[in-house]
Amino acid sequence: MVNDCIFCQIVAGDIPSKTVYEDDTVFAFLDVNPLAPGHTLVIPKDHHETLADVPEDTASDLFSALHRLTPVVEDAVDADASNVAFNNGEAAGQEVSHVHAHIIPRFDGDGGNPIHAIAG
Ligand code: IMP
Repeated sequence: MVNDCIFCQIVAGDIPSKTVYEDDTVFAFLDVNPLAPGHTLVIPKDHHETLADVPEDTASDLFSALHRLTPVVEDAVDADASNVAFNNGEAAGQEVSHVHAHIIPRFDGDGGNPIHAIAG
């Protein structure tokens, strides 16, 4: 755990979050500033800054959770599709330096592309 990392503090339960999913290596919770209903963040429990820093077995767990959670999140808010994206590094708009995937539900005709919004 990195003490000044807000996502590490969320995993530890020191900062409250709306938990969507949890297993031994992965944690998912609702984004506090959602770009759409159901906007979910999926993270490894261990602190790694970017995707390249994540050990391969953890990356596999992370992708497996994304694979299972994406349709669940879509169904929960009756979405038609979703954007699944990483801002991978500060220059790409990553604001929280604990690697995380966004699942952003999309609805027919909702317009725009939230990838642009999360990339800042
Ligand atoms: P980034 O720009 O890809 O790093 O996205 C960081 C995301 O974390 C943003 O969408 C924020 O709204 C979200 N966020 C920041 N702090 C919290 C929190 O305490 N709880 C839930 N989401 C958060």
